[in-house]
Amino acid sequence: MTVLKTEMRLCPCCMEKHDVQTVTVPESNTFKGIVIEYTAEYSFCDKADELYADEEQISSNDISMKNAYREKAGLLTTDQISAIRSRYGISQSDLCLLLGWGGKTITRYESHQVQDIAHDTILRKLDADPEWFLELLKSAQSSIAPASYAKYLETGTALFEQDHDLYLKSAIMAKYARFLHNPEATGGRELSLDHVEEMIRYYANSDQVTKLFLVKLLKMLWYGDALSYKRYGHSISGLVYRALPMGAVPIAYESIIDLSTVHYEEIEMGDGTGYRFLPSEKKEYPHLTSEDTEILNAVIQRFGKAPKNEIVEAMHHEDAYTETAPHDIIQFKYAKTLSLL
Ligand SMILES: [Zn+2]
Repeated sequence: MTVLKTEMRLCPCCMEKHDVQTVTVPESNTFKGIVIEYTAEYSFCDKADELYADEEQISSNDISMKNAYREKAGLLTTDQISAIRSRYGISQSDLCLLLGWGGKTITRYESHQVQDIAHDTILRKLDADPEWFLELLKSAQSSIAPASYAKYLETGTALFEQDHDLYLKSAIMAKYARFLHNPEATGGRELSLDHVEEMIRYYANSDQVTKLFLVKLLKMLWYGDALSYKRYGHSISGLVYRALPMGAVPIAYESIIDLSTVHYEEIEMGDGTGYRFLPSEKKEYPHLTSEDTEILNAVIQRFGKAPKNEIVEAMHHEDAYTETAPHDIIQFKYAKTLSLL
């Protein structure tokens, strides 16, 4: 028995006023066939030498017992369930709506009723999968108040982007793992997606860069890295480029342009969809050094207003392109003869 506090009050046990202790006691109980140990809270009357639990304590002891059971049975505890719900900022009743459960189900799970395994699995999936939350939300839209819907949509989307970014980043890093000890491919830099994101943002935010479509952006990234290598013996980003018919293209570029900090619009062109990269509200570049931005400015000065064909044509004249077999990795050593100074 551990004493939490002692206070002078009416003792519920002997009905006299005296110093009453609030205590915790280790208890053991069998619930759903499992023996459970947990800590219960009581008032202790030293005159009657008796433990006494008021309504509130009976209730919280019951939750403690059931949480101990949940832990032992591998189920989410009440705190974990409400944490999942608060992550999405959604009310108990709206979450029930989304999941097609009775209106009080979550309220009960966050207190005395132990959830079954099927519902437990659904709550865990919800926690791990913001995309699924968004799907459920959209199909329940007509049943949810518009202001709440907008709020849930915003929170869910932010979580989805965060998750999606983590997923994309680890997929990109996995594709770069085999170049870790290949400075000729990386330009002597380990891939830094922070640098990549800032380079893209720097180009897209410049008012000296027009019509920044995909081919032009990828070429400008290569020119930035190659010029850095020429000047300082290392690239800026650590991207690894392949020689494709239109020039240098970084490995995993499809995932890179999908990162949440990279903004583009899709434009219907004659022969498919074009990706046009857009300025961002973020104008800070904490990872780029002043040498880096000088390099990017030189690339912008040369190619910022050039049409795509001009930059592709320039690339086709670089040793990096003529000396590299189609689809091979472009070696940074060729940057030494780069046309930019
Ligand atoms: Zn008493």
